Amino acid sequence: MISIIDKLKDKRKLTAEEYKALLTTSDPQIVAYLTSQAREVAQGQFGKGIYLRGLIELSNVCRNDCFYCGIRRSNCHVSRYTLTREQVLACCEHGYQIGFRTFVLQGGEWGEERTTWIADLVHDIKQGWPDCAITLSLGEHPLDTYTLWRKAGADRYLLRHETHNASLYKLLHPHEMSHSHRLQCLNWLKESGYQVGTGIMVGAPFQTIGSIVEDISFLIDFQPHMIGLGPFIPQHDTPLGRFPAGTVDMTARLYAILRLAIPQALIPSTTAMATLTPDGRLRGILAGANVVMPNLSPTDTRKMYALYDNKAALGAESVQGVQTLAEELSTIGYHIDWGRGDSPAM
Ligand code: SAH
Repeated sequence: MISIIDKLKDKRKLTAEEYKALLTTSDPQIVAYLTSQAREVAQGQFGKGIYLRGLIELSNVCRNDCFYCGIRRSNCHVSRYTLTREQVLACCEHGYQIGFRTFVLQGGEWGEERTTWIADLVHDIKQGWPDCAITLSLGEHPLDTYTLWRKAGADRYLLRHETHNASLYKLLHPHEMSHSHRLQCLNWLKESGYQVGTGIMVGAPFQTIGSIVEDISFLIDFQPHMIGLGPFIPQHDTPLGRFPAGTVDMTARLYAILRLAIPQALIPSTTAMATLTPDGRLRGILAGANVVMPNLSPTDTRKMYALYDNKAALGAESVQGVQTLAEELSTIGYHIDWGRGDSPAM
């Protein structure tokens, strides 16, 4: 097993059987070796600095109906909101004062009628804080829309592929959504010159070790600049709300495998990790993650952006808690890196 980990570090690729062995081993020493190797590679790339992204949850209005997501169209228990332009700019100003140099605008997927509004907003943020990177995470759109937003000043785009297995994709999404269109969008994003992030929910209902192996192979082929992986967490008003949550262990193991396979990738230790256990975020970092995305949204809308139950949005997970986060990081010998944190591959 140790030799498989060394091979992954060296060749950055394994056979399906070898990935399966790493994903299923219950030997804590093997897992410890895997994570220590990933940590070493992450530190070789980024030192012990952790990049921050200020997450602004733009809107919980969504045209999609993904079976796992708390803000899906059919969830009538959600009070819908959309931040105003002024509210978003106020979040950026607040974040900038604290030291943030990357803003992530995430939200439900809107129809194309709001495309110009987004482009104008991106333009205004770029005018106001030209030294900041802007990341969008607003779902699937036509190539023209991605190009327009890119021209307006967006630098990065996050769109998780969710799963690379077409049958599993169908079990998680309504029929009008397709795995092939999601991949088309990812290719359009690359074509438009974004730094692109993609990824999956770990432990999603019906997911198998085999499907995770397919995801790893896809990620290695696609070579994303950023990899977003978080454990699935049920939201009680969704069709998949009775399935068990994914685990911090499996997610951290995947951070480690992907860190060894794609050393330069920017990998956040995600909010879902911090939601499952208080030390989830640190465990992600110790497995090779190098980014944290504190919540910069106005406090009164945060609880309305409930993708899953009990989502962490306070303490070290929030912008108010940057000091707490810095202290947490220092307990494992890490610190905040206040840079823009562009992909070294750019
Ligand atoms: N609408 C945008 C972004 C918002 S959702 C988009 O489609 O990309 C951002 C991510 O949250 C999704 O890609 C999904 O992987 C994750 N997510 C949604 N529901 C979740 C749940 N119940 N548990 C864990 N992660 C979830």
